[in-house]
Amino acid sequence: MAKTKSTKDITSLDTSEKSNQSDFNKVIDSLENQEEKKENGKDKQVINIEKGFDCFGFSEGLITTLANKGYVDPTPIQKAAIPELMLGRDLLGQAQTGTGKTAAFALPLLERINNKEQHPQVLVLTPTRELAMQVAESFKAYSEGHPNIKILALYGGSDFRSQIYSLKRGIEIVVGTPGRVMDHIRQGTLIQEALQCLVLDEADEMLRMGFIDDIEWILEQLPNERQMVLFSATMPPEIRRLSKRYLKDPAEITIKSKKKEAQLIRQRYITMQNSYKLEVLKRVLELNLGEGVIIFARTKAITLKLAESLEASKHNVAVLNGDVPQNLRERTVERLKNGGIDVLVATDVAARGLDVERISLVINYDMPFDSEAYVHRIGRTGRAGRTGDAILFISPRERSFLGNLERAGGQKIEKMEIPNNETINKHRVEKIKKDLIRNASSKRKTSEELSLLKGIVDEIESELELTSKEIALAALNLALGESTTLLASDDENWINQAERYSRSNDRRDSRGRNRRRHEIGPNSNDKDKDRFRVEVGHRDRVKPGNIVGAIANEAGINGRMIGRIQIFENYSLVDLPKGMPTSIFQNLKKVKIMNKELNINRQN
Ligand code: AMP
Repeated sequence: MAKTKSTKDITSLDTSEKSNQSDFNKVIDSLENQEEKKENGKDKQVINIEKGFDCFGFSEGLITTLANKGYVDPTPIQKAAIPELMLGRDLLGQAQTGTGKTAAFALPLLERINNKEQHPQVLVLTPTRELAMQVAESFKAYSEGHPNIKILALYGGSDFRSQIYSLKRGIEIVVGTPGRVMDHIRQGTLIQEALQCLVLDEADEMLRMGFIDDIEWILEQLPNERQMVLFSATMPPEIRRLSKRYLKDPAEITIKSKKKEAQLIRQRYITMQNSYKLEVLKRVLELNLGEGVIIFARTKAITLKLAESLEASKHNVAVLNGDVPQNLRERTVERLKNGGIDVLVATDVAARGLDVERISLVINYDMPFDSEAYVHRIGRTGRAGRTGDAILFISPRERSFLGNLERAGGQKIEKMEIPNNETINKHRVEKIKKDLIRNASSKRKTSEELSLLKGIVDEIESELELTSKEIALAALNLALGESTTLLASDDENWINQAERYSRSNDRRDSRGRNRRRHEIGPNSNDKDKDRFRVEVGHRDRVKPGNIVGAIANEAGINGRMIGRIQIFENYSLVDLPKGMPTSIFQNLKKVKIMNKELNINRQN
C-alpha cells in the first residue's frame, strides 16, 4: 500500500471544486441538506449527478458487496474522501456519525490492502469499545469480496490471550481502543512495522476521554511513511494541533452538520428523585399516542432493567445496547420502523445515527453526559420534517445542567409536571373516544364479516331486548377487557411531594442561593456509588480523563457512570457504581495508566 504523493489531479465532486484543487478544502452539506436542496430545485450544481460507486476504481468484489448491502450512491463524505484515500493521501475530516464516514475510510483502505503482508497494515483507533466493535463489524461487512482480509477488534475487558492468538494468526486490519492497542504494542504482540495507515475515529471524543497522550505515544511507534486519517465531529484546538503535527498535506473535508431541527422538537424536563424514575416513566409512556418512543439510559444494565419492567406493563419493547449483535440490531430497528415494537430502550452508542420517522418521543431517562449527546439524542425524533417531543428526567441536583443543554439545543426546555391520575384518566377517556370514532368510520375488510357482526347485534337486540346503547357499552367493555380498571387510582402523594420539593428548588435557584447544595461536596459520595483508590496521582501527571478512559474501556463501565474523581499527589479516588463484579475488579487491578498499574482498591 505505497503512499502516492498528493496530486493536483484530484477526482473531485464537481467542476467548481476542481478549480480549487490546490487549496483543497471541501465544505459539503450533509446528505439530508443536499436532498432537501434537490427537492427545492435549487443549488442543483452542488450535487454530482454521476451515480454509484463505479467512479472510484473499486474492485468488482467490492462493487458487488456494496450492491448487496443496498448502497446505491456514495454519501457526500464518501464522494469527497474516497478518491483522496485511494491515492494514499492524508485526510482531515470533520463529520458526525450518520454521514457514512466509516465506509468513507473503510472502503478505500480495504482496496489498498496488500494481501502478502504478514502483519497489520491498517490500525483504526476509536474512543470506546462499542465503536471499535461497530467499526470492525463494518469492515467485516465491506470485506465480503476480499476473502483473505482478516479484521480484529482489540478492546479492554475482553480476553488478552485470545487477542494475541488472533494477532499471531495474521490480521490485516486492527480496530481498537488506545489502551489495549498500547498494551499489545508494548508486549510486542501487535507488530507495527508494516502499518501503513492509521485512522483516528471520533478524535474529539478520544481527547475528551483523556487518550491524547496515548494516541501520541502510539503515533510515535508507527513507521514514518504512513497514511493518516483523522475524523472528528468538532475541531477543538488540540485536534488542530494534533493534525498539524502528524498529518502531511492532508485533504480537508468538512461535512456541514445537519440543519438544526430542534425547533420542531418540543423539549421539556421533569424533576424527580431517582427512586421515582420508573414510576414517572410509566406515566409518561401512558400519555404517548402509540407512536415510536426511544428511552435513553446510561448503562446496558439499566436498559435491560427498564425493558423488563416495561414489558411487564404490557409495552411492546426492545433493547439496543452494545451487547446486542449487529444483525439483531438491524432487525430491531426494522421492527421499530414497521411498528412491531413501539418502545426502544437504548444506550447512546447503540442508538447512534438511528433514523426512524415514527419516533415521536425521546425520553432521557438518564441525564446525557454532555450537551452534544443531548442534541444527538433528541435529534432521533422530529425526523423528516415531523414534530417530536423530548422529555428529560433530572434529579434536583442535575438541574444546574439545564442551562448548558438549552444553549446547545438553542431552545428553552420547559418544565413538565409528573402526569397525575387525573391527567392519565383524561387521556384514557380521550383515547377510547378516538379509537371508537376511528372504528366507526372504518369499515371491516370484508362485507361478509360486517354482515355477520350486524347479525350478532340484531340477534342480541331482539332476544335480550337491549338498546343499541347498552350493546355499545357491552362492546366497549369487551374491548377494554373486563378485568382492566379504566381509571388510575394509584397513590399519588409522592407526586405532590415531588412537586412541592421541585417548586422549592425553583425558588432557591431563582434567588441564586444555596446553589452549592447541588454540587458534590469534597467528602460526599453518591448513594449508588462506592469509592475506590487507584495508585496513580499528580506525580504521574494523570488527569481525570485518563482515569475515565482507562476504566470505561477496561471495565466496560460507561464513562457516564464514573462519578467524582479526586487526584492527590500519589494516588486518586474515584467513585464507581456499586456492585461491581469481581471479574471486572480483577481486570481493573492490572490496567495501566501512564504506564503504572492502577492496583485499584475499595476505599472505606
Ligand atoms: P456512519 O456515519 O459510518 O456511522 O454510517 C451511518 C449509516 O449509513 C450506516 O448504517 C451505514 O451502513 C450507512 N451507509 C453508509 N454509506 C452508505 C451509502 N453509500 N448508502 C447507504 N447507506 C450507507
